Amino acid sequence: MKDGVEVIVFPLAYAEGMSSSSDRSSRWYAKPDPTQQTATGETGLRFSCTVCGNCCSGGPGYVRFSPEEGRAMAANLGISEQSFLDDYTHSTSLGLSLNEKSADDGYDCVFLDRETMPGKAICGVYEARPSQCRTWPFWPENLRSPESWERASRGCPGMNTGKLHSVEVVQMTVERALADR
Ligand code: SF4
Ligand code: SF4
Repeated sequence: MKDGVEVIVFPLAYAEGMSSSSDRSSRWYAKPDPTQQTATGETGLRFSCTVCGNCCSGGPGYVRFSPEEGRAMAANLGISEQSFLDDYTHSTSLGLSLNEKSADDGYDCVFLDRETMPGKAICGVYEARPSQCRTWPFWPENLRSPESWERASRGCPGMNTGKLHSVEVVQMTVERALADR
């Protein structure tokens, strides 16, 4: 889940409004049928990944990770932390980021694997993927309003379908996304 240059939003400006757990019930996704797509009266948001790889691909972006996450990815790959840093990461003004590789429509994350499963794009470090990736699509940018969610869903076919995530789970995930930035 790459953070694109054009969409990167640092959450501090509105972290106050997104991170309070006391008013979860006032979130737009806590209202019945928040996306207007189910008409069942359910609250929360539906999402099941289709493994299309869109969010790990596109224009130049960032896949940031903490030192602990870097060590976990290195272990997942069975290499040393130094080899991982040398071979798969680079420095940016935002800190270390995973490398990218050229793809048909721009750039793929260095760990995006389009070969192993025909028609799918899988993460080569899935079990150890960083928080930035784990928390998609419940990012504060996407949860700011129904319109933000709708905009994000245009590139992510897993949104608004599949598993229903409760208001509490969505809110816990966005709080984690904020905390890990
Ligand atoms: S369905 Fe969404 S989360 Fe899953 S790979 Fe595609 S764009 Fe990413
Ligand atoms: S680490 Fe995995 S989930 Fe994250 S951007 Fe790269 S391929 Fe996608």
